[in-house]
Amino acid sequence: MNMEKVVTALSYKKIAEFIRKLYQTAEFIPLHEPRFIGNEKAYVTDCIDSTFVSSVGKYVDRFERMMVDFTGAKYAVAAVNGTAALHIALQLVGVERDDEVVTQPLSFIAACNAISYCGAMPVFVDVDRETLGMSPESLGDFFSAETSNASGRCVNKRTGRRIAAVVPMHTFGQPCRIDEIANICEEFSVSLVEDAAESLGSYYKGRHTGTYGKAGIFSFNGNKTITTGGGGMIVTGDETLAKHAKHITTTAKIAHHYEFVHDEIGYNYRMPNINAALGCAQMESLPRFLESKRAIASAYQQFFSDSNITFVKEPINAVSNYWLNSVILENKQARDSFLEELNSCGIMTRPAWRLMTELPMFLECQARDISNAKWIEERVVNIPSSARIV
Ligand SMILES: *Cc1c(COP(=O)(O)O)cnc(C)c1O
Repeated sequence: MNMEKVVTALSYKKIAEFIRKLYQTAEFIPLHEPRFIGNEKAYVTDCIDSTFVSSVGKYVDRFERMMVDFTGAKYAVAAVNGTAALHIALQLVGVERDDEVVTQPLSFIAACNAISYCGAMPVFVDVDRETLGMSPESLGDFFSAETSNASGRCVNKRTGRRIAAVVPMHTFGQPCRIDEIANICEEFSVSLVEDAAESLGSYYKGRHTGTYGKAGIFSFNGNKTITTGGGGMIVTGDETLAKHAKHITTTAKIAHHYEFVHDEIGYNYRMPNINAALGCAQMESLPRFLESKRAIASAYQQFFSDSNITFVKEPINAVSNYWLNSVILENKQARDSFLEELNSCGIMTRPAWRLMTELPMFLECQARDISNAKWIEERVVNIPSSARIV
């Protein structure tokens, strides 16, 4: 394989050298590793000393309040992980068995899984090349061409099924054009649930991602901008939805000082207090993480600026958390050799997810023209993006 042919302006050696200099190490460089630089040990120790490590304790409430303060959402409800948060958010905006939910094919599997847990099925619209997230044009075209709307009920004319929700995703932390998507959802009477799992610290037109829809969700998995080991959060402006989310994520138990009575099918989707302790400490460090991630993104942007490799910049009107920095290669072959070369010298790089439309579970699902998603999937690579803390 002739690597010089694929990368003309930059050799892999130069790229590897640059990334090693950025992270100041000759060791393996992961894509995204957590940083524990603050009160993590103190809070976890306090949590253990209190014995309230599980489903009850002060850290869960505190972590939820910190998320409210940071995102500007009215309410936040912690959950055991981001996928569970999505499942509950979809159920509470009214997604039911045999409904359809519109989402993007370029995404992590969580949204399609959560849609499936509700007994519903995904319908796929395309993404934008600039934002990597759902395209308002593709979404609008789908609603105009394929649905009919009678008394507030949006129906897919092809399948006869109700369209219950739209789930866009802020890919790698880059905000999608969420205000336009919100307007389309409003026009066609469909609930908006934002998969903001990757975009804590990302804003669109001055407003935090995840707060445009009826509900939004975040993830605190180990590879995300902040981590609780595993964890998730539902945010919403709707008090009833927030209360219901708390209720059914905690087994739908009616509060009582000794009796066990549950009034509907609930889930054990609670975030344990010990994970929330970690979350409180991580939230305190979040501004530092974000600052460092911006500096890294800006260094990458400059490094790739005069090359045939395109660094993915934050979209207009947006502030990105640069959770995962990404570059666009010329074609699939260039992507594959980039992945091969950098991974084999101990610098972790990863392609995007295989498109949802190509997975065996969703082959039968309706999909619009998704050529941008295919174009991106063939070319995009994530490069090391952990916060640097010195
Ligand atoms: C991480 C992530 C989730 C949630 O993942 P969990 O591991 O369940 O917390 C959901 N959607 C996207 C796009 C993600 O990247």
